[in-house]
Amino acid sequence: MTTSGPSDGRHAPSGSDDESQRRIRQALEATVSRETSTSGDDVSRETREDDLPIAKEAKRAVDVLHPTSLPRPPRRRTICVANQKGGVGKTTTAVNLGMALAMSGLEVLVIDLDPQGNASTGLDVDHRAGTPSVYDALINESTLKEVAQTVEGMPNLKCVPATIDLAGAEIELVSLVARESRLQKAIEAYPEEVDYVLVDCPPSLGLLTVNAMVAAEEVLIPIQCEYYALEGLGQLLNNIDLIKAHLNPKIRVSTILLTMYDARTKLADQVANEVREYFKDTVLTSVIPRSVKVSEAPGYGQSVLTYDPGSRGATSYLAAAKELAERGIR
Ligand code: ATP
Ligand code: MG
Repeated sequence: MTTSGPSDGRHAPSGSDDESQRRIRQALEATVSRETSTSGDDVSRETREDDLPIAKEAKRAVDVLHPTSLPRPPRRRTICVANQKGGVGKTTTAVNLGMALAMSGLEVLVIDLDPQGNASTGLDVDHRAGTPSVYDALINESTLKEVAQTVEGMPNLKCVPATIDLAGAEIELVSLVARESRLQKAIEAYPEEVDYVLVDCPPSLGLLTVNAMVAAEEVLIPIQCEYYALEGLGQLLNNIDLIKAHLNPKIRVSTILLTMYDARTKLADQVANEVREYFKDTVLTSVIPRSVKVSEAPGYGQSVLTYDPGSRGATSYLAAAKELAERGIR
């Protein structure tokens, strides 16, 4: 490193030694200020990581997951994504797993069963008031085929949107015949060939979630790697047991997905270990990291897979989809 330095003039493309030293100093200063401004700041650090060219892990996942590379299940799998705790990543998981499975060539139907309509936003399907929606299928005898919309750019991914009407459905359902099994009937009558039906549940254990659990054979529970992650899980599991005993003997918790994992905190590991100890191999090996790209994507009406395919968020959802598909119906 002693033969050619900035001051020997041989590598300076033009200008004086002073000029090249100034440029080097500027570059160093920029690096130092970037390091300083990002240290201790989760979001910026993460952005930097995500901004790197496609990481090795990403390349592997993309290589492995070219369309049609995932096994088609022997029959339709209906999975409800549920956890009555709010903000744990249910919708993000339904949207991104749905997209990942569809990108791998499978036929997917995502049903937005939350009056917040977040899955509809994430998949960019119309869900303004008055749009035919899951409400019409539950309350008004419309068929799911009539209300499903194709996600733009992904012909094998459909979404049944939720509009604000759904907010009243919990109460309206109470007085209807077969109030717990209306979604099940609607899904059974869906005529299209579908490999996966993913139902995004609201953060409650009310009649909408009961409908999802009566319609599904599998429950996927996203668990956020944070304090209080396990709080309320007992109640969720009790409810699933009750539904199994009285309404749907086939229902079971098939999959746990750890979300918003932050590798830099001990807490995330503690939560992950605790969950794995309790739920054993129901927990997917793939873990979804806390990633700014994942949270930005819905703002653009996109999944993280289309918004930033090389990001860690995208590759982990691809990996989770792969695991889910390969585990099949257990
Ligand atoms: P609700 O109970 O309100 O329906 P939810 O369980 O569906 O919430 P999401 O809406 O998927 O949770 O996520 C909650 C928030 O966390 C959203 O703003 C979402 O963008 C963000 N988020 C989800 N997953 C991640 C992640 N892996 N990294 C960073 N942000 C995330
Ligand atoms: Mg949600």
